[in-house]
Amino acid sequence: MTGDIPRRRFLGRSLAAAATIVAFDPVTRTWVREARADTIPIPSLDGMLVEAGPLLAEAADDFGHIISRMPVAVLIPGSIHDIKKLVKLARCHGLRVGGMSMIGNTHSSYGQSQVEAGVVIDMSALCEIHEINEHDALVDAGVRWEELLEATVPLGKSPPTLTDLIDLSVGGTLSVGGIGGQAFQHGLQVDNVLELQVVTGRGKVVTCSPTHRADLFESVRAGLGQFAIVVRARVRLVDVPPMVRTYTAVYADAATFTGDQVMLVQDGRFDYVEGSASPDGSGGWLYSLEAAKYFDPAAPPDDATQLAGLSFLPGTEATTDQSYFDFANRLAPLVAFLKSIGVWDLPHPWLNLFLPGSEAASFVASTLAATTEDDVGQGPVLIYPFLRAAATADFVPLPGEDVVFLFALLRNSLPFIPGHLSSQLQRNRELYDAAHALGGSLYAISSVDFDALDWQDHFGGVWDDFVAAKDEYDPDRILTPGQGIF
Ligand SMILES: Cc1cc2nc3c(=O)[nH]c(=O)nc-3n(C[C@H](O)[C@H](O)[C@H](O)COP(=O)(O)OP(=O)(O)OC[C@H]3O[C@@H](n4cnc5c(N)ncnc54)[C@H](O)[C@@H]3O)c2cc1C
Repeated sequence: MTGDIPRRRFLGRSLAAAATIVAFDPVTRTWVREARADTIPIPSLDGMLVEAGPLLAEAADDFGHIISRMPVAVLIPGSIHDIKKLVKLARCHGLRVGGMSMIGNTHSSYGQSQVEAGVVIDMSALCEIHEINEHDALVDAGVRWEELLEATVPLGKSPPTLTDLIDLSVGGTLSVGGIGGQAFQHGLQVDNVLELQVVTGRGKVVTCSPTHRADLFESVRAGLGQFAIVVRARVRLVDVPPMVRTYTAVYADAATFTGDQVMLVQDGRFDYVEGSASPDGSGGWLYSLEAAKYFDPAAPPDDATQLAGLSFLPGTEATTDQSYFDFANRLAPLVAFLKSIGVWDLPHPWLNLFLPGSEAASFVASTLAATTEDDVGQGPVLIYPFLRAAATADFVPLPGEDVVFLFALLRNSLPFIPGHLSSQLQRNRELYDAAHALGGSLYAISSVDFDALDWQDHFGGVWDDFVAAKDEYDPDRILTPGQGIF
């Protein structure tokens, strides 16, 4: 690692308005640009600490555009040592100016990566791919999955589970879970991390794995940034063929649709299984299966075999062939379009629930019967199952059945009606409560107001472990206050 900070990420961003902080004033508890005898100097950094300019505004926002908390500074780390030094400084001098938080690609929806009057560490500055081996890759936390794939797919390799959008940081999704259509087979992204290098809330740089400092490793996987800053990760790679055939087919009712999805994740004929619901144009909803089979061009899949025994509406089936990379990056054109028409800039009160398999069809059907197109603001509704046994991270609480469904209302706050956003947020809460009463749980990337008791309830049997890990690794409660847990 060199000291050249403004690396690729910062080439296109103006640092002209940014001012560099050199010391902390313990009396006014502010960061200052000129050191004095009574101020605490900031140790020399390979990167820089910035206290003004567009980077602060970016750090005070996220994809949700609902919560905004202004930090006092953004650290652009030039090295892992910068992060360690700043955490240690904060601890030694009690500079708890609101804590510290990390941003990967700011795709949180409810302020999870923000910190009021604190320091945000922009992890996107650490974005090197260090190694790609036969079975794994060693990457900085700020690397985005898309970048890793650009490097691995030409070698016929890929991380086994990918999020739908791959423009997310490795550190960001490993801090929350990282789910996608391959999860039924491979688990979440946190189930496919082999080793982590972290800076704990005590300012210690530690490498941990399932066999070395396993307690720390288990805590950090989907630990919501509470215990340590992930700086590097060794992630599993699997062999992938060059092509993917995606099958889509439409269903009229939730029970038939989810029943077929469960059959597919149990028989394993596809490599990827997802699905969605969309308005049918007359007040109801239609369900669409999306399943994909990876293949070598010399041996394409047999469509009749792939679709055998499925009960979709006859004539609604379709296939698309793409390269593996284009399949993995299939949302990129849609994202570019949504950005071009301003939808990306709307508030996004997203709700992601995990439902017990036995309750999924009825919960989805009754929820959607009471949901209009405006309630989701034309955002997608995702519904897909995975097998509970594949998901092993302690801090992703899941229903206790063999099959679990992700049910996601990826709302835009449209149309522009006063009170619409708050009623969407209130509806999120009601749906969470209803799902929770049935044994469901929250995927913690959601926009749902949680107080301390909700978090305790959320973690249930592992809450004591969560608190013990906080006491052990971040005793001063420095890290990631935006999650609202401590
Ligand atoms: C369009 C879109 C599509 C998405 N699709 C999926 C999907 O298919 N599957 C899925 O699982 N999720 C999906 N997500 C959600 C996404 O995984 C989470 O919001 C994730 O946290 C975003 O990653 P990020 O890199 O932007 O992290 P940020 O939003 O920047 O950070 C997320 C959390 O992790 C913490 N954090 C970030 N970096 C680190 C680090 N290095 N060390 C410790 N903590 C850190 C932050 O403080 C924050 O609490 C999607 C989000 C969007 C907006």
